[in-house]
Amino acid sequence: MIRFHGVSKRYDTGQEALSRVDFHIERGEMVFLTGHSGAGKSTLMKLIMLMERPTSGQVIVGGRNTERIRGNGIAHYRRDIGVVFQNHQLLFDRSVFDNVALPLQVAGFQTADIGRRVRAALDKVGLLHKEKLKPITLSGGEQQRVGIARAVVNKPALVLADEPTGNLDPDLSAEIMTLFRQFNELGMTLMIATHDIELTQRMNKRVMSLEHGRVLAGGNPS
Ligand code: ADP
Ligand code: ADP
Repeated sequence: MIRFHGVSKRYDTGQEALSRVDFHIERGEMVFLTGHSGAGKSTLMKLIMLMERPTSGQVIVGGRNTERIRGNGIAHYRRDIGVVFQNHQLLFDRSVFDNVALPLQVAGFQTADIGRRVRAALDKVGLLHKEKLKPITLSGGEQQRVGIARAVVNKPALVLADEPTGNLDPDLSAEIMTLFRQFNELGMTLMIATHDIELTQRMNKRVMSLEHGRVLAGGNPS
């Protein structure tokens, strides 16, 4: 699903965020990405999202060399990747339903289809009964679940989550991880960046660790 070949990323400032990174993640895997702040986790995910480009090396996603994905192809490529952020980036003036519907509207789905898919996604995260509410009236954990429903509503092959439990207490974090595991069991490939080593240990999944832009361990399926 994801393959990095000798990937380095140097920002314009001269900062080398990743240096000669090699790893691969198979379709259907759930992998944690750990490392201290500044280790390069976000940069690695931005390279997969084509929000940044490598200085050297190759980023292969779904068998495609992403170097060749340009222009209009980028939006199309991103449609198959769900993204979950720490601060979930919900639109607070829209209902829960409308927040989750957004990616489908952008992709041009028909109204009936949107309703069906949004409700299926909200059902999976246990928030079907809150579809009409505004996100501001939900708890932190519920808001993150809306963010997850929005990330998976398009049934992407790959989901990237950057510190998805960074603002949540341990119980809610565990709940979110259980949700991710359920999506993984449905066949989604997941990569989850987190500081929370304890949480990753309890999940019993592959942990890939970065330090100063290099892969320390866990770069390949065991
Ligand atoms: P992490 O997500 O593990 O905290 P990042 O990928 O955000 O790590 O950062 C890796 C390194 O790259 C850090 O030294 C950071 O300061 C630097 N960096 C990240 N983004 C930029 C940027 N846009 N411009 C310059 N340096 C950056
Ligand atoms: P948590 O401790 O899990 O973050 P909260 O105590 O914030 O949960 O919220 C518990 C419940 O109360 C949630 O179902 C949430 O939807 C509801 N709730 C929280 N804040 C508000 C609010 N300002 N208005 C209406 N309902 C709220």
